[in-house]
Formats: sequence, structure tokens, C-alpha cells
Amino acid sequence: MKSQLEQWIQALGSGPLIIWGARMTGLGLVRFCRTHGLEVQGFIDSDPALANKRIAGLPCHTPAALPAILAANPGLKIIVAASTKEQAINEQLLGLGVSRDHFFNYSDYCNLFYTIDVMGTCNLKCLSCPHGAEKEEPYDRGQMPFESFQKVVDKIIAENSAVTHISLYSWGEPFLHPALPQMIDYLHQHGIAAALSSNLSIKNESLLRNVMLSDPEYLKVSLSGYFPDAYNDTHQGGDIYLVRSNLLRLRHYIDRYHLNTFVDVNYHVYNNNNRLNLQKMQELCDELGFALSQTYALVMPLERTIDKLQGRPSPSTVELEKKLLLTIEEGIAAANPDGKPGVTGTCPFLENQTIINWDLSVPVCCTTFNRGSNIVAESFLDTPLAQIESQKRQAPVCTTCTKLGLPAYNLGLHRNRWDAIAAQKPSTDLPCA
Ligand code: SF4
Ligand code: SF4
Repeated sequence: MKSQLEQWIQALGSGPLIIWGARMTGLGLVRFCRTHGLEVQGFIDSDPALANKRIAGLPCHTPAALPAILAANPGLKIIVAASTKEQAINEQLLGLGVSRDHFFNYSDYCNLFYTIDVMGTCNLKCLSCPHGAEKEEPYDRGQMPFESFQKVVDKIIAENSAVTHISLYSWGEPFLHPALPQMIDYLHQHGIAAALSSNLSIKNESLLRNVMLSDPEYLKVSLSGYFPDAYNDTHQGGDIYLVRSNLLRLRHYIDRYHLNTFVDVNYHVYNNNNRLNLQKMQELCDELGFALSQTYALVMPLERTIDKLQGRPSPSTVELEKKLLLTIEEGIAAANPDGKPGVTGTCPFLENQTIINWDLSVPVCCTTFNRGSNIVAESFLDTPLAQIESQKRQAPVCTTCTKLGLPAYNLGLHRNRWDAIAAQKPSTDLPCA
């Protein structure tokens, strides 16, 4: 029987490829294709933040450009690498007259996404995060030793030979881990792309430079403002001037060392940063050639959200909700338009995620943080993947979460409905210039 990897390579054939989806899954595919001698011509992505950018050295086109590209390249095959939008993209392709044997879904060959949370703490204390609520819910801190990391990656590959990328963050700040460059190198040695996320309020210039020299494929930078007043209010403990200077450093390293890292600034929108702050950060990203995507700030982790919805809001949740553009209840209503959360559908977090915490424990999904009943395996290394999957499907928290409509809330589904509610809310930010 052929391995997943062999089936995947055979299906792709020898012709040129274009990848629909230019974020982490697509970037992992580029590394995979380059490792196996397959030619990738570029990306398609509907996100305006990515339009006409060069990503991994390749052009990123809008979907409107696809008919002309296909007309000029009759043998071109398309790989759809956008999990939550896969079905809609398939329908779009069929509507464009692309035959079913000319496009593939990444999920047909690799339906699991792995995250290794290499660092079990953060240097900031954002209210929207368990690190900011630490006084209410203390937790153990630590970091994954490099030797454990190697064993985790080896087990992932043994259980899933078609894995193309691994994320090195969940709740922790990976740029605090001194072995981060070696971890990225280890993934690359195995043909696997590396995804990072950072607050970039990082003082260790040497580590920042060394991480960049390892050329991670994807670096998300999470922030919430351009000016100190707004940023400091929601990224507590961070320094926006340090973040901005590090964004300039990233541009410098990418240019000087000819790196391929795609920098994706993830702007957390609150009611004090959604006008002039957002405009200024967009201008900075445009100047530096980085993408900027906006996401409405949420209450995290899942345990805290459930507590609030069940009438036990923590003091930090009450404080945080004053700064949100949408309350939890409004976000749930926006994300579940049929008004019947949990009645239909499955949870993508349950279907395709495997998270490995710094201490090797495995949580139900990336939205849960607390140890205890939301841990489905005490050690990833000692637990076969099939057993982890089985344990996940029996997790009691999923029943509660689904009934409350939280999977769709955490995914931010039906974004236009969130935008409509947010547009009605007052803002304390200065007007745009
Ligand atoms: S920077 Fe990220 S991980 Fe750190 S406290 Fe803030 S939200 Fe949490
Ligand atoms: S149902 Fe909720 S807790 Fe369960 S995997 Fe999905 S998001 Fe996570």
C-alpha cells in the first residue's frame, strides 16, 4: 500500500501547479513541492491583504485573474489549500469550468494540522489571553527541550508522512525559546515548513536575527494599535515602539539575507484602535510590504468564555468586555446566523487539529488552555495518534462548546455580520486622517 506521501506526489503529477490559499497551508505546500521537484507557478487568494504580493518568491493573484492564467497554461493543476473555505472554492472552480481532475484538495491527502507550543509562557499579559488572567487561573510555566521537540516531530512524521507544515505556537511566545532557530532548521531538514506567531515585543535582537536567518516560511505578528495608548491598553506589558522597530528589522533581514519569510500582521481590533491606529499600522505594513489582516478581539481561552456564558464571568473578562467591539453573545449570534448553534455541522478544531503543549500534554483543541479534563493525553510521545483522536471525540467540553455556538465564534465565521455590528459601536480612537 502506498503511503499518503506517495499517493499525493502521484496525484500531483509532473505538470506545473498553482496553489489556492497563500497562508500557512499553501506555504507548506510550496516547501513540499520544492522538496519533491514539483513546479509551483504562484498562488491564488481572495484576501485583499495578499493581493499582488510576492509570497515565498511567487506571485499571489486574485481569483479574478484565474481564467486568464488557466487559458495561458492549459495543463495547470490547482491545489486548494484553504481548509474552512475549501467547499466554496471547489464550487467556484467548477463554475469557472475547471474539470474535477484538474484540482485537488489538500485535505484529501493530509487532513491534520499540527501545532507544537514550544514555549509555555509569554512576556506579555494581554487581558484577552490566559497569561493576562494568570492571577485568577495560575498555570505551570516551562519550555519544551529541543530533544523532546525532535522526538515529537519524528513521531508526527511517522504517523503522518504527508505533513507539510507545523506551527510552533499556540499560547506561548516562541521568540522566548533559545532553541527556536534549531527547531526551524530541524523542520526544514525534514521538508516541513515552519509557522511562527509573535507579539514581536522582543528585546533579544540576536535571537530575532537568528530566527530570521533560519528563514521560517510564515511569521504572524499579533498587535493591537499603532500608538502606545491603544496598544498598551490591550497588549499589557508590550512596547509598541519596540514592536515597530522590530518590524523594520524584519524588513531589513528579509532584504539583506534574501529571505522568503511571509510576514502577516494580525491586527486585533478593539473599540480604542479601529480608526487612526489601524490606518497608521496599515500604512506602515504597506510601506514594509507586509500583509495586515484584522481580527475582532475575543475572550480567550474557551474555559473563560464558557464561564462567562454560564454566569460566572471572571473580573478580567468583565474588564476585557468593556474594550471589545462585539460582546461574546453578539459574536456568537453573528457567527451562527441560523440561530441554532451546535445543531448542525462539525467542528474543524476537532476534525483536523493536533496540539502538543510544551509539557507534551495534548489538549482537546487550540481554544482550551487549562489542564485537567480538557487534556486528552498526558504525553503525545506515549500515545498513538488514533488514541488521541478517539479521546478528543469523547471530550465533554465539546458538547458544551458546541451547544453554546463557540466553534463558529472562535473561527469568526460570517465576518460581514461581525462588521455590521461593529460599525454601530462607538470608538474611542481618533478619526482617520
Ligand atoms: S502576546 Fe499573545 S500569548 Fe502573549 S499574552 Fe498577549 S495574547 Fe497572550
Ligand atoms: S467543539 Fe469546542 S472544545 Fe471541541 S474541538 Fe471544537 S472548539 Fe474545541
